[in-house]
Amino acid sequence: MPPGTALLNDGFKGQALLIVDDSPTVRRGIRIALEPSALFNEYVEAKDGLEALRILNQRPIDVILCDVEMPGLDGFKFLDLMKGTPEYRGIPVILLTGLENVEKKIAGLERGASDYVTKPFDKGELIARVRVQLKLKMLQDQLRIASITDFLTKQFNRRHFMEVLQSEFDRALRYSNPLSFVILDIDHFKKINDSHGHLQGDRVLVDVSALVRSSVRSHDVVARYGGEEFVILLPQIDEAGATAVAEKVRRIVAETAFSGMDGQSVTISLGLVTFPGKDPSGKLTVDALIHSADDALYRAKEGGRNRLEIGKLTL
Ligand code: GH3
Ligand code: MG
Ligand code: MG
Ligand code: MG
Repeated sequence: MPPGTALLNDGFKGQALLIVDDSPTVRRGIRIALEPSALFNEYVEAKDGLEALRILNQRPIDVILCDVEMPGLDGFKFLDLMKGTPEYRGIPVILLTGLENVEKKIAGLERGASDYVTKPFDKGELIARVRVQLKLKMLQDQLRIASITDFLTKQFNRRHFMEVLQSEFDRALRYSNPLSFVILDIDHFKKINDSHGHLQGDRVLVDVSALVRSSVRSHDVVARYGGEEFVILLPQIDEAGATAVAEKVRRIVAETAFSGMDGQSVTISLGLVTFPGKDPSGKLTVDALIHSADDALYRAKEGGRNRLEIGKLTL
């Protein structure tokens, strides 16, 4: 069995490998060496660091093989730039170095490279090293996804939502954009659990979250906030727009026939708050936003449920 082929059926398959080298011959050699490993769907090439950055900007890459010496933006400068960019930082870089270049290898690792391969490379070693990095990257991606996802509904979890809320609030302030936020809670959910069982309750949670998710646009953020509470973050949407969205979500849930409920309807109550884009007091916080939406939700419950109330902010 040729070296590397024992690794074929391990279930890891990356989207794309990026090969950065000024020599077309080296790039071709790497591609030919790696293609039979079937570790990636695609092999993308760049002739220097700048072209590599452009590619990173355009498409997902799982592992980068990068030459150190290139005219233009060389391997080290490329490493510095990409490791300084949060979106790219997690992509492992394997440096391609000359045989005798020990200092360069050390310097590269210190600058954030994950590993190095010496040119001229051994095919089996190249495959093995790339594979290790691909596996680490995929495990890390899985871990990251698990850490921001709610286990039951597969929507974002509360922790991630709080991070996004803070960054969207900062952005809204900086650019004077409105930001709206809806908190919704399933009405009398305890009764659903009591009369149909906890498993059916879980199913309703999954169904409600799917309805909410599919009622909003892709860049709106939906998260499970608590047991039977969900939140929707609507960047750049003012109060009128957010009211329309929240009303639509309320209506869709109320009008949906949920399976396993024996015809019994499911409704939600919603509280909405909009940050108008300006805070003359300079004292507004995300906690105040949440508090106001929560307060509105409480009024929606008090007011008879299956309804929307709008919160006020003191600015
Ligand atoms: P209200 O209309 O005032 O919101 O009444 P409610 O019954 O929905 O509210 P309450 O807070 O009294 O009950 C919420 C229930 O949600 C209690 C809890 O057992 C249930 N719950 C929380 N998380 C889960 C879950 O993951 N699965 C299921 N099945 N039930 C859950
Ligand atoms: Mg070179
Ligand atoms: Mg609740
Ligand atoms: Mg409830």
